[in-house]
Amino acid sequence: MHTHIMPEHMPRFSEQFGYEGFIHLEHHLPGRARMMQGTKFFREIEANCWDPVAREVDYAAHHTQMQVVCTIPVLFAYFAQPKHTLEVARFLNDHLAQLVHDHPRTYIGLGTLPMQDTELSIRELQRCKEIGLVGVQIGSNINDKNLSEPEFFPIFQAMQDLGMALFVHPWNMMGQQHMSKYWLPWLVGMPAETSRAICSMIFGGVLERLPGLRVNFAHAGGSFLPTIGRIEHGFHCRPDLVAIDNPVNPRDYLGKFWVDCITHDPLMLRYILDLAGEDKVTLGSDYPFPLGDLEIGAFIEEMGLPDETKEKIYFRNTMEWLNLVNLPIHSG
Ligand SMILES: [Zn+2]
Repeated sequence: MHTHIMPEHMPRFSEQFGYEGFIHLEHHLPGRARMMQGTKFFREIEANCWDPVAREVDYAAHHTQMQVVCTIPVLFAYFAQPKHTLEVARFLNDHLAQLVHDHPRTYIGLGTLPMQDTELSIRELQRCKEIGLVGVQIGSNINDKNLSEPEFFPIFQAMQDLGMALFVHPWNMMGQQHMSKYWLPWLVGMPAETSRAICSMIFGGVLERLPGLRVNFAHAGGSFLPTIGRIEHGFHCRPDLVAIDNPVNPRDYLGKFWVDCITHDPLMLRYILDLAGEDKVTLGSDYPFPLGDLEIGAFIEEMGLPDETKEKIYFRNTMEWLNLVNLPIHSG
Protein backbone atom coordinates (compact mmCIF):
# COMPACT_ATOMS: atom_id res chain seq x y z
CA MET A 1 0.00 0.00 0.00
CA HIS A 2 2.98 2.32 -0.11
CA THR A 3 4.66 2.38 -3.49
CA HIS A 4 5.64 5.24 -5.76
CA ILE A 5 5.10 5.78 -9.46
CA MET A 6 5.35 8.68 -11.88
CA PRO A 7 4.54 9.32 -15.55
CA GLU A 8 7.24 8.36 -18.06
CA HIS A 9 7.25 11.90 -19.44
CA MET A 10 6.78 15.09 -17.45
CA PRO A 11 5.93 18.42 -19.08
CA ARG A 12 8.59 21.09 -18.64
CA PHE A 13 6.56 22.89 -15.99
CA SER A 14 9.47 25.22 -15.17
CA GLU A 15 9.47 26.56 -18.74
CA GLN A 16 5.68 26.68 -18.84
CA PHE A 17 5.30 28.62 -15.58
CA GLY A 18 8.52 30.67 -15.84
CA TYR A 19 10.30 29.61 -12.62
CA GLU A 20 12.39 26.73 -11.29
CA GLY A 21 11.77 23.93 -8.84
CA PHE A 22 9.61 21.54 -10.88
CA ILE A 23 10.81 18.05 -11.71
CA HIS A 24 11.31 16.76 -15.22
CA LEU A 25 12.91 13.57 -16.54
CA GLU A 26 15.91 13.20 -18.80
CA HIS A 27 15.79 9.78 -20.45
CA HIS A 28 19.51 9.43 -21.10
CA LEU A 29 19.63 5.62 -21.53
CA PRO A 30 17.05 2.98 -22.39
CA GLY A 31 15.14 2.19 -19.19
CA ARG A 32 16.94 4.86 -17.17
CA ALA A 33 16.22 8.50 -16.48
CA ARG A 34 17.56 11.35 -14.42
CA MET A 35 15.06 13.21 -12.27
CA MET A 36 16.06 16.82 -12.68
CA GLN A 37 14.97 19.83 -10.65
CA GLY A 38 15.82 22.50 -13.19
CA THR A 39 19.52 21.94 -13.85
CA LYS A 40 20.00 20.17 -10.50
CA PHE A 41 20.25 16.37 -10.48
CA PHE A 42 17.87 14.86 -7.90
CA ARG A 43 17.89 11.10 -8.40
CA GLU A 44 18.54 8.43 -11.01
CA ILE A 45 15.52 6.22 -11.63
CA GLU A 46 14.77 3.11 -13.67
CA ALA A 47 11.82 1.97 -15.76
CA ASN A 48 10.16 0.42 -12.71
CA CYS A 49 9.45 3.98 -11.62
CA TRP A 50 7.10 4.54 -14.55
CA ASP A 51 6.49 1.28 -16.44
CA PRO A 52 3.40 -0.52 -15.04
CA VAL A 53 4.31 -3.87 -16.60
CA ALA A 54 7.94 -3.85 -15.41
CA ARG A 55 6.61 -3.26 -11.90
CA GLU A 56 4.17 -6.15 -12.12
CA VAL A 57 7.04 -8.48 -13.02
CA ASP A 58 9.09 -7.28 -10.04
CA TYR A 59 6.11 -7.68 -7.77
CA ALA A 60 5.23 -11.15 -8.98
CA ALA A 61 8.69 -12.30 -7.84
CA HIS A 62 7.53 -11.45 -4.30
CA HIS A 63 4.05 -12.99 -4.68
CA THR A 64 2.36 -9.60 -4.74
CA GLN A 65 -0.53 -8.89 -7.10
CA MET A 66 -1.77 -5.40 -6.28
CA GLN A 67 0.02 -2.16 -5.61
CA VAL A 68 -1.38 1.01 -4.08
CA VAL A 69 0.52 3.70 -5.94
CA CYS A 70 1.08 7.38 -5.27
CA THR A 71 3.44 10.00 -6.56
CA ILE A 72 6.99 10.66 -5.35
CA PRO A 73 6.94 13.40 -2.67
CA VAL A 74 9.47 15.56 -4.58
CA LEU A 75 6.66 16.01 -7.15
CA PHE A 76 4.22 17.57 -4.64
CA ALA A 77 5.24 21.08 -5.82
CA TYR A 78 3.73 22.76 -2.76
CA PHE A 79 6.33 25.53 -3.18
CA ALA A 80 4.72 26.84 -6.36
CA GLN A 81 1.85 29.23 -6.98
CA PRO A 82 -1.32 27.30 -6.04
CA LYS A 83 -2.75 27.39 -9.57
CA HIS A 84 0.48 25.87 -10.88
CA THR A 85 0.55 23.18 -8.17
CA LEU A 86 -3.04 22.40 -9.11
CA GLU A 87 -1.99 21.94 -12.72
CA VAL A 88 0.84 19.59 -11.69
CA ALA A 89 -1.53 17.68 -9.40
CA ARG A 90 -4.14 17.32 -12.13
CA PHE A 91 -1.52 15.99 -14.53
CA LEU A 92 -0.27 13.43 -11.97
CA ASN A 93 -3.78 12.46 -10.86
CA ASP A 94 -5.00 11.97 -14.42
CA HIS A 95 -1.99 9.73 -15.04
CA LEU A 96 -2.83 7.66 -11.94
CA ALA A 97 -6.50 7.43 -12.93
CA GLN A 98 -5.53 6.19 -16.39
CA LEU A 99 -3.18 3.62 -14.87
CA VAL A 100 -5.90 2.33 -12.53
CA HIS A 101 -8.36 2.26 -15.42
CA ASP A 102 -5.97 0.31 -17.66
CA HIS A 103 -4.79 -2.09 -14.92
CA PRO A 104 -7.73 -2.52 -12.55
CA ARG A 105 -6.47 -5.81 -11.15
CA THR A 106 -2.96 -4.61 -10.29
CA TYR A 107 -3.16 -0.91 -9.35
CA ILE A 108 -5.05 1.23 -6.85
CA GLY A 109 -4.29 4.97 -6.92
CA LEU A 110 -3.84 7.75 -4.35
CA GLY A 111 -3.84 11.29 -5.71
CA THR A 112 -1.95 14.44 -4.75
CA LEU A 113 -3.33 17.88 -3.81
CA PRO A 114 -2.20 21.53 -3.89
CA MET A 115 -2.22 21.51 -0.08
CA GLN A 116 -1.07 25.13 0.27
CA ASP A 117 -4.52 26.21 -1.02
CA THR A 118 -7.53 24.94 0.95
CA GLU A 119 -10.18 25.60 -1.65
CA LEU A 120 -8.24 24.22 -4.63
CA SER A 121 -7.35 21.13 -2.59
CA ILE A 122 -10.98 20.36 -1.77
CA ARG A 123 -11.96 20.82 -5.40
CA GLU A 124 -9.18 18.52 -6.62
CA LEU A 125 -10.00 16.00 -3.88
CA GLN A 126 -13.56 15.79 -5.23
CA ARG A 127 -12.22 15.35 -8.73
CA CYS A 128 -9.84 12.59 -7.55
CA LYS A 129 -12.85 10.69 -6.28
CA GLU A 130 -14.72 11.20 -9.56
CA ILE A 131 -11.84 9.85 -11.64
CA GLY A 132 -11.51 6.68 -9.58
CA LEU A 133 -8.83 7.36 -6.97
CA VAL A 134 -9.64 6.09 -3.48
CA GLY A 135 -7.59 8.57 -1.46
CA VAL A 136 -4.68 10.98 -1.49
CA GLN A 137 -1.12 11.24 -0.28
CA ILE A 138 0.14 14.43 1.41
CA GLY A 139 3.43 15.53 2.96
CA SER A 140 4.25 15.48 6.68
CA ASN A 141 4.44 19.27 6.57
CA ILE A 142 3.21 21.75 3.97
CA ASN A 143 5.92 24.30 3.24
CA ASP A 144 7.07 23.90 6.87
CA LYS A 145 3.55 24.36 8.24
CA ASN A 146 2.31 21.61 10.54
CA LEU A 147 -0.81 19.59 9.78
CA SER A 148 -2.47 21.08 12.89
CA GLU A 149 -2.78 24.49 11.16
CA PRO A 150 -6.46 25.49 10.83
CA GLU A 151 -6.17 26.00 7.06
CA PHE A 152 -5.74 22.25 6.55
CA PHE A 153 -8.72 21.21 8.66
CA PRO A 154 -11.39 21.75 5.98
CA ILE A 155 -9.35 19.54 3.62
CA PHE A 156 -9.24 16.75 6.22
CA GLN A 157 -12.94 17.26 6.83
CA ALA A 158 -13.63 16.91 3.11
CA MET A 159 -11.58 13.68 3.08
CA GLN A 160 -13.77 12.32 5.84
CA ASP A 161 -17.00 13.50 4.20
CA LEU A 162 -16.05 12.15 0.76
CA GLY A 163 -14.75 8.87 2.22
CA MET A 164 -11.29 9.44 0.75
CA ALA A 165 -8.40 7.73 2.55
CA LEU A 166 -5.32 9.73 3.56
CA PHE A 167 -1.68 8.65 3.39
CA VAL A 168 0.87 10.92 5.13
CA HIS A 169 4.42 10.64 3.81
CA PRO A 170 7.55 12.34 5.24
CA TRP A 171 9.27 14.87 2.99
CA ASN A 172 10.91 18.33 3.17
CA MET A 173 12.76 17.01 6.19
CA MET A 174 13.35 19.33 9.14
CA GLY A 175 16.96 20.27 9.67
CA GLN A 176 18.14 18.80 6.39
CA GLN A 177 20.31 21.85 5.67
CA HIS A 178 22.33 20.92 8.77
CA MET A 179 22.73 17.22 8.03
CA SER A 180 23.47 16.67 4.38
CA LYS A 181 26.15 14.05 5.19
CA TYR A 182 25.48 10.32 5.74
CA TRP A 183 21.99 10.41 4.16
CA LEU A 184 20.77 11.81 7.50
CA PRO A 185 17.65 13.51 6.11
CA TRP A 186 16.38 10.05 5.13
CA LEU A 187 17.65 8.13 8.16
CA VAL A 188 16.99 10.68 10.90
CA GLY A 189 14.77 13.35 9.40
CA MET A 190 12.10 11.12 7.88
CA PRO A 191 11.13 9.23 11.06
CA ALA A 192 11.05 12.55 12.93
CA GLU A 193 8.89 14.12 10.20
CA THR A 194 6.28 11.38 10.46
CA SER A 195 6.13 11.74 14.24
CA ARG A 196 5.78 15.49 13.72
CA ALA A 197 2.77 14.83 11.48
CA ILE A 198 1.09 12.38 13.89
CA CYS A 199 1.70 14.60 16.94
CA SER A 200 0.35 17.62 15.03
CA MET A 201 -2.81 15.79 14.01
CA ILE A 202 -3.35 14.47 17.56
CA PHE A 203 -2.46 17.59 19.57
CA GLY A 204 -4.23 19.84 17.04
CA GLY A 205 -7.41 17.83 17.55
CA VAL A 206 -7.71 16.70 13.92
CA LEU A 207 -8.09 13.01 14.78
CA GLU A 208 -10.40 13.91 17.70
CA ARG A 209 -12.73 16.02 15.60
CA LEU A 210 -12.70 13.72 12.58
CA PRO A 211 -13.07 10.17 13.90
CA GLY A 212 -14.12 8.99 10.43
CA LEU A 213 -10.89 10.16 8.75
CA ARG A 214 -9.02 7.05 7.62
CA VAL A 215 -5.34 7.97 7.82
CA ASN A 216 -2.22 5.85 7.35
CA PHE A 217 1.29 7.04 8.23
CA ALA A 218 4.39 5.90 6.34
CA HIS A 219 7.35 3.95 7.72
CA ALA A 220 5.39 2.48 10.62
CA GLY A 221 4.63 5.98 11.88
CA GLY A 222 8.31 6.99 11.98
CA SER A 223 9.53 7.68 15.50
CA PHE A 224 6.02 8.23 16.90
CA LEU A 225 5.30 4.71 18.19
CA PRO A 226 8.84 4.06 19.51
CA THR A 227 8.63 7.31 21.49
CA ILE A 228 4.95 7.18 22.56
CA GLY A 229 6.03 6.80 26.19
CA ARG A 230 7.92 10.08 26.06
CA ILE A 231 5.12 11.81 24.18
CA GLU A 232 2.50 10.63 26.70
CA HIS A 233 4.73 11.63 29.62
CA GLY A 234 5.14 15.09 28.08
CA PHE A 235 1.36 15.35 27.78
CA HIS A 236 1.00 14.55 31.51
CA CYS A 237 3.87 16.63 32.88
CA ARG A 238 3.43 19.76 30.74
CA PRO A 239 -0.23 19.94 29.73
CA ASP A 240 0.25 23.72 29.58
CA LEU A 241 2.47 23.12 26.53
CA VAL A 242 1.04 19.93 25.05
CA ALA A 243 -2.69 19.73 25.82
CA ILE A 244 -3.68 23.24 24.82
CA ASP A 245 -5.85 22.28 21.85
CA ASN A 246 -6.87 18.72 22.71
CA PRO A 247 -7.24 17.35 26.27
CA VAL A 248 -7.12 13.70 25.18
CA ASN A 249 -4.11 11.50 26.01
CA PRO A 250 -2.13 10.80 22.79
CA ARG A 251 -2.01 7.11 23.71
CA ASP A 252 -5.79 6.96 23.30
CA TYR A 253 -5.30 7.32 19.54
CA LEU A 254 -3.38 4.07 19.21
CA GLY A 255 -5.54 1.76 17.13
CA LYS A 256 -7.36 4.67 15.51
CA PHE A 257 -4.98 5.17 12.59
CA TRP A 258 -3.05 2.87 10.30
CA VAL A 259 0.69 2.58 9.75
CA ASP A 260 2.67 0.59 7.21
CA CYS A 261 5.04 -2.20 8.23
CA ILE A 262 8.26 -0.74 6.78
CA THR A 263 10.60 -1.30 9.74
CA HIS A 264 13.19 -3.77 8.33
CA ASP A 265 13.17 -5.22 11.84
CA PRO A 266 11.02 -8.11 13.15
CA LEU A 267 11.41 -7.01 16.78
CA MET A 268 10.25 -3.50 15.96
CA LEU A 269 7.36 -4.79 13.87
CA ARG A 270 6.18 -6.90 16.82
CA TYR A 271 6.22 -3.77 18.95
CA ILE A 272 4.33 -1.81 16.26
CA LEU A 273 1.75 -4.61 16.03
CA ASP A 274 1.32 -4.51 19.82
CA LEU A 275 0.95 -0.74 19.95
CA ALA A 276 -1.05 0.05 16.80
CA GLY A 277 -2.97 -3.22 16.92
CA GLU A 278 -2.81 -5.98 14.36
CA ASP A 279 -5.82 -4.49 12.54
CA LYS A 280 -3.90 -1.31 11.77
CA VAL A 281 -0.59 -2.46 10.26
CA THR A 282 -0.49 -2.60 6.45
CA LEU A 283 1.99 -4.05 3.97
CA GLY A 284 4.06 -1.20 2.60
CA SER A 285 7.22 -1.50 0.56
CA ASP A 286 8.31 1.99 -0.65
CA TYR A 287 9.03 0.25 -3.95
CA PRO A 288 10.94 0.97 -6.14
CA PHE A 289 13.33 2.94 -3.91
CA PRO A 290 16.36 1.35 -2.24
CA LEU A 291 15.40 2.31 1.32
CA GLY A 292 12.16 0.36 0.93
CA ASP A 293 11.36 -3.25 1.77
CA LEU A 294 12.07 -4.47 -1.72
CA GLU A 295 11.71 -8.13 -0.77
CA ILE A 296 8.16 -7.16 0.16
CA GLY A 297 7.30 -8.80 3.44
CA ALA A 298 10.02 -11.50 3.41
CA PHE A 299 11.03 -10.55 6.97
CA ILE A 300 7.39 -10.87 8.05
CA GLU A 301 7.26 -14.42 6.68
CA GLU A 302 10.15 -15.29 8.98
CA MET A 303 8.48 -13.91 12.12
CA GLY A 304 6.25 -16.90 12.79
CA LEU A 305 3.08 -14.80 12.97
CA PRO A 306 -0.28 -16.60 12.83
CA ASP A 307 -1.76 -16.84 9.32
CA GLU A 308 -4.66 -14.63 10.35
CA THR A 309 -2.31 -11.83 11.40
CA LYS A 310 -0.29 -12.13 8.20
CA GLU A 311 -3.47 -11.95 6.12
CA LYS A 312 -4.43 -8.77 7.91
CA ILE A 313 -1.03 -7.18 7.26
CA TYR A 314 -0.82 -8.43 3.67
CA PHE A 315 -4.19 -7.13 2.47
CA ARG A 316 -7.16 -7.06 4.84
CA ASN A 317 -6.07 -3.97 6.79
CA THR A 318 -5.25 -2.08 3.59
CA MET A 319 -8.70 -2.89 2.20
CA GLU A 320 -10.26 -1.56 5.44
CA TRP A 321 -8.15 1.58 5.33
CA LEU A 322 -9.13 2.22 1.71
CA ASN A 323 -12.72 1.13 2.34
CA LEU A 324 -12.44 -1.49 -0.39
CA VAL A 325 -13.68 -4.38 1.73
CA ASN A 326 -16.25 -5.26 -0.90
CA LEU A 327 -13.68 -5.52 -3.66
CA PRO A 328 -13.51 -9.12 -4.92
CA ILE A 329 -10.27 -10.84 -3.98
CA HIS A 330 -8.63 -12.65 -6.91
CA SER A 331 -6.82 -15.77 -5.87
CA GLY A 332 -3.69 -17.06 -7.59
ZN1 LIG B 1 7.63 6.31 0.26
